Amino acid sequence: MRQRSRLVVASHNRAKAAEIQRILFGEGLEFEVVSLADFPEVTLPAETGRTFAENALLKAAHAAEATRLPAVADDSGLEVDALNGEPGIRSARYVGEDATDQDRCEKVLTLLRDTPDDRRTARFRCAAACAEPSGVTLLAEGTCEGRIAHEPRGFGGFGYDPIFVPEGESRTMAQLTPEEKHAISHRGRAFRELARLLRERVAQENG
Ligand code: IMP
Repeated sequence: MRQRSRLVVASHNRAKAAEIQRILFGEGLEFEVVSLADFPEVTLPAETGRTFAENALLKAAHAAEATRLPAVADDSGLEVDALNGEPGIRSARYVGEDATDQDRCEKVLTLLRDTPDDRRTARFRCAAACAEPSGVTLLAEGTCEGRIAHEPRGFGGFGYDPIFVPEGESRTMAQLTPEEKHAISHRGRAFRELARLLRERVAQENG
């Protein structure tokens, strides 16, 4: 992989590609990052993996094969200890097809209604993968430990942010600024680690 290679993000969301380009650039990697919005004929495979890592690798490998470009993908979610790790890899579809983030937060809060503070531990997890058309893959993972609040607070972020209080914080993830969230988040950690692996790979190839 070359220093200025084109890299495709295995998502049709241009904002996600821009965000990933920003992280990689901040880590000294000057890839031209594009999304699958530039490849409308490419569809993503069903997320049939049993782990975040399997799903991230599945999406990255599929996008690399379909576009013949190095591809990155991520998969992430929330694990609640008192729910035996649920919603986990089902985080995005925990309630049903037409449900909202608010519905999903309400479901977790209802299930934890009688759970005391010391048993409300949880974590966000993210796996970030890169696959090259040659079949070479890189994988990085990031976690953010915390606990589930008793009610939603804050309007920032998305998903389960309003009910998740990161370790060492009194605010929920939805009450942090984007910079504060990015510095401690599972996704920030996973992509900073992936950037480190990509730098090594570029150095190897340009040797
Ligand atoms: P993915 O798009 O398959 O990775 O699914 C991620 C799902 O996990 C999202 O739809 C959210 O419900 C949840 N999730 C992942 N990361 C975050 C986060 O940073 N904050 C809140 N919820 C998240």
